[in-house]
Formats: sequence, structure tokens, C-alpha cells
Amino acid sequence: MNPSIKKTEPVFSISTAARLLKISVHTLRMYEREGLIIPYKKKSNQRLYSQADLDRIQCIRDAINQAKISINGIKSIYSLIPCWDIIKCSAEEQKECASFNGAHNPCWTYDHKNVCKERDCRTCEVYTKYSQCGTIKELIKSVSR
Ligand code: SF4
Repeated sequence: MNPSIKKTEPVFSISTAARLLKISVHTLRMYEREGLIIPYKKKSNQRLYSQADLDRIQCIRDAINQAKISINGIKSIYSLIPCWDIIKCSAEEQKECASFNGAHNPCWTYDHKNVCKERDCRTCEVYTKYSQCGTIKELIKSVSR
């Protein structure tokens, strides 16, 4: 990859991303539908992927193919990320949040009415930082100390 391009910059079309990952475009679309990934969407609705997206998808592929975790299993793991703590939701917001009260889907898959309504999930640290390979485990370790 060109070193002048930032890792988070969405530059790859869906067909290029699929080719680089050695998976089908259909699989990439399915990951998006399932809420595992949030590609960048142009105004034309065309999806673009960054190198960080590709790394994330590779992590998902490894979880599925090597650790034998199902897509629903990955979604449940993502749903355990304490987003309310990371973005500092108030107790009142937590009470009304479907994500805070659910345990099967990542927070970014909900239609939020609270503080998250105005936020961009794709650039939120809950999505970018805490759902990458390795960081969920580190997070769990840090809260259990
Ligand atoms: S902005 Fe999106 S990713 Fe961030 S905590 Fe809210 S729902 Fe989750």
C-alpha cells in the first residue's frame, strides 16, 4: 500500500477489498448486513474500505475459520464491549438504550435515540479501537483487575 495513504482512509472498492482478502463480494456484503463491519459510504452509496477495515475483516475471518466462532458469536462478543463506559453515557441514557439493555448485537447496529444518534459509528472509538483483534481481551482484563 502507498505509504502516503493513511490506514483509516477509505480507498479500496468492494471488489478490490474482496480480492485483497481473497473472499467474495457477496461475503463482504453479508458481513455488513450482519453488522460486523461498517464500510465508508459515498453519497452514491458506493462502499469503500480502508486498510484498517481490511485488517478488521481479516480478524473476523480468523475468528470464523480458525477459532470456529460463528457470526452470531462474534456479534455477541462485540455486544459485550462496554460502550456506555467508553463514551460516558449518563445513567438516564443507559436506561433508554436498547444496546445497553441487549446482549446479542453490537451497539452500532441499533437505531439510537440517545447520545449516539449524532455520532458516526464508523469513526467512534468503540468501533475502531475496541472491536479490533486483541483489544476486547485487553479491555476485559482491564475491567476485571
Ligand atoms: S456511536 Fe456507534 S459505535 Fe459508538 S458507542 Fe454509539 S452506537 Fe456504539
